[in-house]
Amino acid sequence: MDRDCKQDSAHQKQKIFSNKCFKPGCKAREMMKLVCDQCQRNFCVRHRHPLDHACEGEGRPISKAGYAALMRSLEAQKITQDYQFLQNRCKAKC
Ligand SMILES: [Zn+2]
Ligand SMILES: [Zn+2]
Repeated sequence: MDRDCKQDSAHQKQKIFSNKCFKPGCKAREMMKLVCDQCQRNFCVRHRHPLDHACEGEGRPISKAGYAALMRSLEAQKITQDYQFLQNRCKAKC
């Protein structure tokens, strides 16, 4: 059993040209990985630049830290809304 597993993984490593371009419609495969550091996706030589694949990594208004902050503020907003809703309901009831 163990031996079979090892053989399988070794076989997978021998696979070449598996770095398919992520750009829709592009079927190019590269021998080496050309990962965009903005969106962490793999592209061919022609599409590796952020401008060439309409990169979603760079130029996004929200960074990871900004996104976390946004989520926090959204949550805070939701809690406030829930709180107000509860207060209003109580007023209506009482
Ligand atoms: Zn491509
Ligand atoms: Zn990109």
